[in-house]
Amino acid sequence: TFITFEGCDGSGKTTQVQRLAGLMRSEGYEVVTTREPGGTPGADAVRHVVLSGAAQSLGPNIEAVLFAAARADHLSQVIRPALEREAIVICDRFHDSTRVYQMGADETDQAFLARLEAATLDGVFPDLTIILDVPAELGVERARARRSASAADRFEGEEAEVHRKRRDRFLSIAENEPERCVVIDGRGDEEEIMEDIVAVIEDRLGI
Ligand code: C5P
Ligand code: MG
Repeated sequence: TFITFEGCDGSGKTTQVQRLAGLMRSEGYEVVTTREPGGTPGADAVRHVVLSGAAQSLGPNIEAVLFAAARADHLSQVIRPALEREAIVICDRFHDSTRVYQMGADETDQAFLARLEAATLDGVFPDLTIILDVPAELGVERARARRSASAADRFEGEEAEVHRKRRDRFLSIAENEPERCVVIDGRGDEEEIMEDIVAVIEDRLGI
């Protein structure tokens, strides 16, 4: 069973992935947690290249190729083998993040990126995708709280604007694929959100 967590920065994905994995393990399931970009040494190297900004001048289409290479490695080294031995795989971000972050940029070749996605996933789709949804201001605030540097006021406004666009894209993915995606309100406290997630897992997957 393949479960992905998606949502903007500061939506609580990493926290909830760890909680859910802990709960499932306590019930005796084999659970593999992983994350993107990254999840293997090769993919982590790509994560560093991309997140450091070193590849920015290449533009969003080629940046997406780097993400695709990392994802292909992650799929073949970690995700596929775990699914084959019937473990539960819980991944912190996956292809929907590419649809939002790379495909959401201006000047992207959508047809190319759609073919790239199909070639990369090669038939492996999440059984369930939990989209944690938080308002732009809250997401930006939480993401900032974990960064050390303080941002200027002008940057603050821009950031919320960017977050709002990404949030809309995540919500439209959920609207287009309701059989795969569930949107969960990420504003409450950790415990409440976990309860909502557990209810969805029971309802959708019978786990
Ligand atoms: O989820 P995490 O905080 O580890 O993600 C690190 C950063 O990677 C995010 O802030 C996001 O901006 C970026 N990212 C991206 N494209 C993806 C996935 C993540 O730009 N496909
Ligand atoms: Mg995170």
